[in-house]
Amino acid sequence: MPLPKKKASKQRRRKRKTHYKAEAPSLTKCSHCHQPKPPHAVCPNCGYYAGREVVKPKVEEGKGKGKGKSKSK
Ligand SMILES: [Zn+2]
Repeated sequence: MPLPKKKASKQRRRKRKTHYKAEAPSLTKCSHCHQPKPPHAVCPNCGYYAGREVVKPKVEEGKGKGKGKSKSK
């Protein structure tokens, strides 16, 4: 198995790593509500995917029933 002859120094390693950067997440427009959303994913704003509603948006669900963690005392 090929191996590097010498250990890369901290400087050499860090200089190489300067090209390794975090990228901004790619976003597309939702075809239904025109809000930015990740491609190939259900819209977090309206819950639409491929022209039809797949999931209910979270905001409306929480307001309607008010179920879940509420302090009874
Ligand atoms: Zn949408």
